[in-house]
Amino acid sequence: MTIHWSLAYGEYQLPFMGAANRVLNGESRLCPKCNGELRAYFHVFQSDTGKGTLWVWCGGCGMHTTLPRVSPPLQFPDPFAGVPRGQFSALETSAEERLLDRLERLWSEGALRRADAPRPER
Ligand SMILES: [Zn+2]
Repeated sequence: MTIHWSLAYGEYQLPFMGAANRVLNGESRLCPKCNGELRAYFHVFQSDTGKGTLWVWCGGCGMHTTLPRVSPPLQFPDPFAGVPRGQFSALETSAEERLLDRLERLWSEGALRRADAPRPER
């Protein structure tokens, strides 16, 4: 299934950012636009500080956003943790499989889910 990705915009921008911030803190949230389950992926860019970027996307409507330079209070599974920075940048821009398509696939396979993740709630 192909999802049409769209960066959180307009009236959804702030609610979506708010939901993303809660996901960062380990809460499970539903999409402010379509009520779909929000998914998340965190990748560390500064190993000394543990700071990185959190991608949050909706598997329903494809709305997404990123939270850069954040450090979540909990662990997110990262299949790309050992990938060198340059290679990760290549992943981000790969035309073969766009990063969000790849993350959505990994999510479907269960590779990104936290074992202790609670059920979504509004
Ligand atoms: Zn949605």
